[in-house]
Amino acid sequence: MSASSFSLSIVVPIYNESENLRELASRLNRVAGETNATSVEVILISDGSTDESEEIIADIVAQNRMFKGVFLTRNFGHQAAVSKGIEMSEGSVVTVIDGDLQDPPEAILTLLDEILAGSDVAYGVRTKRKEHFVKRFAYSSFYRLLRRVAAVDMPLDSGDFCCMRRPVVDAMLQLPERRRFVRGLRAWVGFRQVGVPYERGPRYAGVPKYTFRRLMALAYDGIFSFTNLPIRMMQFLGLAISLLALVTAVTYVVLYSLGVGHWPDGFASLIVSIWFFGGVQLFFLGIVGEYVTRTFDEARRRPIALVRQILEHDPMRTATSTKRNSVAAQDVPAKLRR
Ligand code: UDP
Ligand code: MG
Repeated sequence: MSASSFSLSIVVPIYNESENLRELASRLNRVAGETNATSVEVILISDGSTDESEEIIADIVAQNRMFKGVFLTRNFGHQAAVSKGIEMSEGSVVTVIDGDLQDPPEAILTLLDEILAGSDVAYGVRTKRKEHFVKRFAYSSFYRLLRRVAAVDMPLDSGDFCCMRRPVVDAMLQLPERRRFVRGLRAWVGFRQVGVPYERGPRYAGVPKYTFRRLMALAYDGIFSFTNLPIRMMQFLGLAISLLALVTAVTYVVLYSLGVGHWPDGFASLIVSIWFFGGVQLFFLGIVGEYVTRTFDEARRRPIALVRQILEHDPMRTATSTKRNSVAAQDVPAKLRR
């Protein structure tokens, strides 16, 4: 890719974002016009949306040939949708951006500048999160923890918002795992990566699609896919507790042979230790189980997501068909701005 000639793919996961789609399309359209890309494709991946999103995507695709619609057969989750979009992208530079306008489309230009300046990956680093402080705290501690324990250099406060050159994308696509923690895979592949600060705004409209459970699942994927720490922790704690038991046993033998003290009652401590070690064992069994299910998951080798329909712009349809589709491509921003 020479500095001046590149084609751009913008991948946007969409799950029930009907209130954001038109604004998103219009801003992406404007941003696309400001890049020097020889061609731009915007892949809107509907991750099993159940609201009007797919109709609106069809409408946007009909009006503007830059846009493509990819409808998954059901809701596979954000990371799967992003992965599918990356897989389907063709550009020599690929951008991933959320569909709720929390990542401002205009920031793509800043990311692109870094790519053109020679980086292979430019990822957004959130300077401000306009979210509830509990959520901010949870996010921030999670990313700090992950960075400490992960086997790869995981950048802080960055999500999936990024621009990547084709070789990076191809490298990520070669990683075979089904459970895709995209930002982790991106860090794992290496190349020249640079963080670009940006302000992550609030959602333009609608409610977050990540429930607490889904966020926990994402956090789990981050931890279990990128570090062996839980297993190490088990080994270490298991060893430590065994040593402690040994020391206690020796102490009792010594005290007994010296005839010091007597412990006929000790019921409380007995019960407490039974419960405690029962708990510890269950916890660790759970961790082992986590690895077993993940291994099982990967061994099944199911596809990451299934596509039901792909929509591409059809110029004939735009020129001739119903009123809904009769707007020429250039008119889109104006029309969408309403
Ligand atoms: N999303 C998706 N599938 C899902 C959940 C979310 O494709 O199962 C999309 C969603 O439409 C949005 C992006 O992923 O474009 C980020 O989701 P959200 O805004 O809910 O996450 P948050 O910003 O709270 O991390
Ligand atoms: Mg969001």
